[in-house]
Amino acid sequence: MTNFIYNPKSPVADEFICHAEIVESIKFAEEHKNDKELLAQILSKAKEEKGLSHREALILLINDMPEINRQIEDLAKQIKLDFYGNRVVLFAPLYLSNYCVNGCTYCPYHAINKNMPRKKMTQDEIRDEVVALQDMGHKRLALELGEHPQMNPLEYVLESINTIYDIKHKNGSIRRVNVNIAATDEASYSKLKDAGIGTYILFQETYNRERYEKLHPTGPKHDYNRQTEAMDRAMRGGIDDVGIGVLFGLSTYLYEFTALLMHVEHLKAVFNVGPHTISVPRLRPADGINPALFADCISDDIFVKIVACLRIAVPTAGMIISTRESKETRERVLQLGISQISGGSKTSVGGYSHPQEEDKDSAQFDVCDNRTLDEIVYWLLKNGHIPSFCTACYRKHRTGEQFMKLCANKSIHHFCHPNALLSLQEYLTDYASEATKALGEKIIAQEVAKLPEQSAKFVTQHLQDIKDGKGRDFYL
Ligand code: SAM
Repeated sequence: MTNFIYNPKSPVADEFICHAEIVESIKFAEEHKNDKELLAQILSKAKEEKGLSHREALILLINDMPEINRQIEDLAKQIKLDFYGNRVVLFAPLYLSNYCVNGCTYCPYHAINKNMPRKKMTQDEIRDEVVALQDMGHKRLALELGEHPQMNPLEYVLESINTIYDIKHKNGSIRRVNVNIAATDEASYSKLKDAGIGTYILFQETYNRERYEKLHPTGPKHDYNRQTEAMDRAMRGGIDDVGIGVLFGLSTYLYEFTALLMHVEHLKAVFNVGPHTISVPRLRPADGINPALFADCISDDIFVKIVACLRIAVPTAGMIISTRESKETRERVLQLGISQISGGSKTSVGGYSHPQEEDKDSAQFDVCDNRTLDEIVYWLLKNGHIPSFCTACYRKHRTGEQFMKLCANKSIHHFCHPNALLSLQEYLTDYASEATKALGEKIIAQEVAKLPEQSAKFVTQHLQDIKDGKGRDFYL
């Protein structure tokens, strides 16, 4: 590998995700492992809640002193509360098509997997899926597709987004569609922006070029530069909320953690705004995937520590965890900084409208948390979180830099908390079981009592409107 100089402002993948800097940072962190003085300095900077550099965060991650780890956890909890409160936003993935031309060795959708039944939904089938999702109570989706220029062209994605936003079934509506499709060009990103998407999500999978090229032997995704520079094209194309992530388990976690933070530094340096979200997916067993791939998988304890250190390093980014993780792991990381989770998810094409026919073989990977959305809402409430179905920010143009400013000065709560309570009441009135409704309404009353007078008035009025059937979708 050629030695590049680390330059967060550079548009060149190997300069902003600089291999030499990553190796050097890991070496430095290992040499300074458990250096009490350095850790004290880093923790004191972290307490200012303005974030940390990749090296500083790595030094925290690598330490193994129980007392320091306790401080890291306490600080992560505090930062989560200060920036994102006790709210947890809910969403569901929607798989439109599993046709794919790529050869990602860890993903059963890869082109040469002949066991995988291929399916692409028609617009009518998408309608059925969305009705099923609305009947569960979902308001926010993440679209998932394999990469296939003939079967899944951008026009198909755009048409599907339109279909999804148009469906108004009973009191339901999908109000935010995030999109997780393969890296594309600037003009296509502009079209996605014009179609009204929320966040554009793309996982790097692994930042290690050598590993990346080996794990993606064929197809357009083989191109490491195309993948790594995609968010720059997305932002230049006008998408100001981007979601990054790595698939933990594909390479060594110290490498991925450092590089992920360098990606954050790059986006901030070039666009003055970091990622809207950071996802932390972990590799899952899936059809036909070689178990040897799991050699770099990480333990639950390391995983939890990664979440805590990311929370401290990038206080303003939302953090997402999916149903790849178990209830127990989700419980641990929710406290430490996760602000969005999926619930009631299906990872097969057509899995929501035809659960009885759901062909397990067409699922992308095994879901670990199989609970219903109602069970998840109840569990969140029981654990002191406020489940939120809010989608107001981007509809009020609080996106990109504007969102980050409000988040950084901790004033986003003034919008998010009232909106979360109102969106939760919609869920309770329209979709919840009796037990969830009773618990949710009790907690909403407690939360309203803590709001400033003006917001309390606004929320109280509209909570009643929702209960009386006078309207839906109230937000600040
Ligand atoms: N096809 C799009 C692309 O290439 O970016 C993204 C859609 S894919 C359905 C979403 C993500 O699923 C991938 O980016 C990958 O990180 C993740 N994934 C693939 N195989 C997985 C597995 N075996 N376990 C967990 N996650 C997996």
